[in-house]
Amino acid sequence: MQQTILKTINDLNKWKKNIENINFVPTMGNLHKGHLELIQQSYKDGSNETLVSIFINPLQFNDKKDFKNYPKTIGKDIKLAFSSGANAIFLPSENEILNIKSLIYQKACKKLSSNLCGKSREGHFDGVCTIVLRMLKIINPKKIFLGEKDWQQLIILKNMIKELNLKVEVKSITTQRDADGVPYSSRNNLLTTSERKDLQFFSEELKKAKKSFTVNKAINLKEINKSFETKNLKIEYLQHLSAFSLNESIDKENITILAGAMLCGSTRLIDHVFLMKRKPIIAIDGPAGSGKSTVTKLIAKKLDFIYLDTGAMYRALSWFLIDQKINYKNVNILQECLKELNIVFKTNLNSDQDIFINNICVTDKIRSQKISSIVSSFASISKVREFLVKEQRKIGDKGGLVAEGRDIGTTVFPKAEIKIYLTASIYERAKRRKIELEQQGQEINFNKLKDQIKQRDLDDSTRNISPLVKAEDAIEIITDNHTADQIADKIIQIFYEKLPKEIKNDF
Ligand code: C5P
Repeated sequence: MQQTILKTINDLNKWKKNIENINFVPTMGNLHKGHLELIQQSYKDGSNETLVSIFINPLQFNDKKDFKNYPKTIGKDIKLAFSSGANAIFLPSENEILNIKSLIYQKACKKLSSNLCGKSREGHFDGVCTIVLRMLKIINPKKIFLGEKDWQQLIILKNMIKELNLKVEVKSITTQRDADGVPYSSRNNLLTTSERKDLQFFSEELKKAKKSFTVNKAINLKEINKSFETKNLKIEYLQHLSAFSLNESIDKENITILAGAMLCGSTRLIDHVFLMKRKPIIAIDGPAGSGKSTVTKLIAKKLDFIYLDTGAMYRALSWFLIDQKINYKNVNILQECLKELNIVFKTNLNSDQDIFINNICVTDKIRSQKISSIVSSFASISKVREFLVKEQRKIGDKGGLVAEGRDIGTTVFPKAEIKIYLTASIYERAKRRKIELEQQGQEINFNKLKDQIKQRDLDDSTRNISPLVKAEDAIEIITDNHTADQIADKIIQIFYEKLPKEIKNDF
């Protein structure tokens, strides 16, 4: 494997001419096992070439002394990077990177940079964004590899990439830790033995807090801070925030971060843990025939999550109201009926789900053309929705669930970790439904089926309560020309990319 050192942008451009796709690992040098893991992951990722940059970014230091003292170990770094799988190392000069004519000053998102490290390090994240953006423009990589140790930085950079619509995929790796639990950091070798012990204490306290959170679902910052008083640690901050918005209002948040920065002697270090109240939820919404059911079932199987088909609940209830000739238009009668109603899913001998309403198995009955044509009108009754949403939330109470429907991301689980809006062309959707119906022995004219689906789309998306709309934070996926397996894998990838890798062990 050829190993190349690139000292100028010109060198880089020449090298790039023969390269199709680049995986980029930005570093400030003094490489440790955390960096090496990033390089190895990039190497393992596939056929892309791995480019590691070593550039100490002066714009992200608000303390000149810290910048001057930042450890520089170029010779050792080059050897380590190449032996971990780097194909090329980019070592640009300050003059070239900070060239006034080419440098665009990029501000970090204010909301994301006002807490944690942004509080005391003014301009730090603007400096990070400016230089990473400059590097991305010069290198134009396919993927960028970043560590979750600097979680706030990762969130800010992901946000910048999204806002600027940059075509680069962000890959992140979990915080790498030494045998004593301390996260690897380029600054760790500035610590004395006793400072290292204090730092270890800090990391252990965070871990302890995480353990007690699993029982109490609460964090007592005062108590944790008090435990630090016994050590030679100067706490710069200790905050408990939403993991993704880095917001302080966390009551309704599922995944949160307990993060701290401290001075160990004169060395500033950070560490964090992620906390989770319930297991994650994946919400999948979309119109009829978009592939929701097949994809959702596949995801549930692959992740060993509960599968929740909310459409089946609306269908079952519609069937019941008709079958039992309930005068549902009378609110009081409907309410009385709902009080006595019991809808449950049970796994059958074929490992599929059966749905029971008041102990009647209606799995097949609810798939008839008749139910398909009337279910939307029942689904627009507010008492029906109130009742079923409550039932659905009960099923999702502990998380570890993937739910499909029309209002999952907007109403049922608005705090779902991932929201997907699946759709497909009307032709594709009608084609799929026709095959499905034929397999069940039902014959239907294709154009009639298309019209029926169009009508259901219209009814579902124009009703007053919880209409079918794409949630603001949902990711739209068009399923035409893709297999269900491909779509399921894509969603699982999106899911894992969004969550901190550390919490994967918690569910
Ligand atoms: O997904 P499926 O086609 O089985 O859904 C049947 C109907 O149930 C939908 O057309 C819609 O009217 C209703 N529904 C809903 N909200 C959900 C799921 C389904 O209104 N979350």
